[in-house]
Amino acid sequence: MEITSPLVLMYHGIVDGKCPLPEDRETGADLYDLSAEQFDQHMAFLQQNGYTVRQAKETSNFTNKDVVITFDDGELNNHKVALPILKKFGFTAYFFIIVSRVGRKGYMTWEEIKELHDQGMIVGSHGLSHQILTSLLDSQIDEELRASKRTIEVNLDIPVDTISIPRGFCNEALIQKAYELGYKTIFISDRPADVKSPCLSRIAVKNNWKVRELQNAILGKKTVTQRAFLSLKKFSKCILKEEGYNKIRSGLIKVFK
Ligand SMILES: [Zn+2]
Repeated sequence: MEITSPLVLMYHGIVDGKCPLPEDRETGADLYDLSAEQFDQHMAFLQQNGYTVRQAKETSNFTNKDVVITFDDGELNNHKVALPILKKFGFTAYFFIIVSRVGRKGYMTWEEIKELHDQGMIVGSHGLSHQILTSLLDSQIDEELRASKRTIEVNLDIPVDTISIPRGFCNEALIQKAYELGYKTIFISDRPADVKSPCLSRIAVKNNWKVRELQNAILGKKTVTQRAFLSLKKFSKCILKEEGYNKIRSGLIKVFK
């Protein structure tokens, strides 16, 4: 069966207890950390169950056996832990970089990011500062989108045309702005009702997901707890807006973990 947009998985940290973690992560970031073993099992599940790991291009047609793998935030463990596992399976993934954090403790350096590219991975922008873009002034949004793209292009000497919008908040104007500035593939988290332009929503993979939870998420099956979490999350985002939602987010995730 052909479908127009692929299933996209969103990973963050893949931790092995040896590679140092960043010190300036947002509260609750650890809720998206998977162990190396868990990630390896996820990749093995995809391979053994006939999934094809693909790149997301707007013109592609996808089947329900196609999966796109993405990583947000550019942590050092993406290079040290995730990359060897991806290579073992022959999979290609997208890595979205927070430009202001490149080279800081626990994040990749430009050399390491270049190695990802050289090994066939796709490098994209995750903004300059990891701020919620919809809460910024238009001029700041412009800078986040434009300068992050340009800085990666200059440092790696490659074209960059893909972005993952940081922190899950976006709107139609933001997506249109990203297209205007030359991005061709835009990844978001959940699609807000007002966003009509093409962009790819993603499944946020969480630290307690074994293969079964991954399989349920891929097949669209949600447990009662997941459903309660998602509706409360949606409600909180609507009612509390960005800042308020951010304050309760980690508590919400912990309760429904
Ligand atoms: Zn992020």
